[in-house]
Amino acid sequence: MVMKEKRTANMEIKKINRTNIYQLLRKNSSLSRRDVVNKLQLCLPTVTQNIMELQEEGLIEEAGSVGNTGGRRAKVYDIVRDARTAIGIDITKNHITAVAVDLTGAVIACERIRCKFEKSDAYYKQLSVLVETVIEKAKLKREHILGVGIGVPGLITADNQTVFYGEILDFTGTTCSEFSKYIPFQTALYNDANAAGYAEIWANEETINAFYVMLSNNIGGSVVINGQIYSGDHLRSGEVGHITIVQNGKECYCGQKGCVDPYCAATVLSSLTNGNLEDFFLLLKKKSPEAIVLWNEYLDHLAVAVNNLHMLFDCKIILGGYVGEYLDEYLDDLVQRVKSRNPFTHDAGYLEVCCYKTEAIAAGAALNFIASFINTI
Ligand SMILES: [Zn+2]
Repeated sequence: MVMKEKRTANMEIKKINRTNIYQLLRKNSSLSRRDVVNKLQLCLPTVTQNIMELQEEGLIEEAGSVGNTGGRRAKVYDIVRDARTAIGIDITKNHITAVAVDLTGAVIACERIRCKFEKSDAYYKQLSVLVETVIEKAKLKREHILGVGIGVPGLITADNQTVFYGEILDFTGTTCSEFSKYIPFQTALYNDANAAGYAEIWANEETINAFYVMLSNNIGGSVVINGQIYSGDHLRSGEVGHITIVQNGKECYCGQKGCVDPYCAATVLSSLTNGNLEDFFLLLKKKSPEAIVLWNEYLDHLAVAVNNLHMLFDCKIILGGYVGEYLDEYLDDLVQRVKSRNPFTHDAGYLEVCCYKTEAIAAGAALNFIASFINTI
């Protein structure tokens, strides 16, 4: 019994060492065995053995050598970034975006098309065409593709297989097997905001706690606690779009009045410019009085929503989605509006604009497969 326990403990240590060595190489390029020894405080034979094994499995590779001329040169190693890849799809009312990501989380191919969502064979075939397009664009080896994550504007069951609330696309009850009818890889469904929030955490690994707000044609939200998405008891957490900010206010698609969604959705702004958000921001830059009025109202409502979130969670608030793409230069203005509402602090440094722009949802849906694979190394 004691022997068995000791053996198990040794195996665990071996696995931890292997994972740590791989993760170190994933985050830092061109490290020598000596660098790994120093950074992880492991002995050289352990490092040598693991590097050899990881190399045999095709997960890391030699990447040249370093050292003084005349002295002995040391080989340096990198991970094989595309030893595994994953594909992500973002489905919205009128568009499909597909991306391929590698083991570092980098988007290595992206394809976006205009295509109206419908529950039809033709639509599901279109998804598979898009998957094949990114495979070709990124020159992916099919046997290295871990899976295809599909981000959708709906709430998803814990097994990632069914949409259990899908008012936005009127697709409640749709299953993953319908979406993936023509996709010859493992697939999983993800809530769009959770997928995008996940991508942001990947891009910023030191983020422990955060609330991600997706300011797209609908509002979504994602709660990240200790680096993990907090889904809630009924998988409905983070639905900031349906927090009431104006009593008996504007009607929301959910059937209630005064929700954040009808005040902070991107469509509030793009309605001024025939649905084109880019045109709205061009108009705003040209100081169009109409655009300025609309933008001020928008920022005031957003400030209320953001402040409410910060009061509840006291953590970093990341603003993403369609509007997030344009927010960088208006962040100071928003910060001023948020600050004035906070009774405790006048520091609004917790407010950030997203790292990923248009491809966050698709990337996040793919990254779930990448993360699962890395956990097995
Ligand atoms: Zn609502």
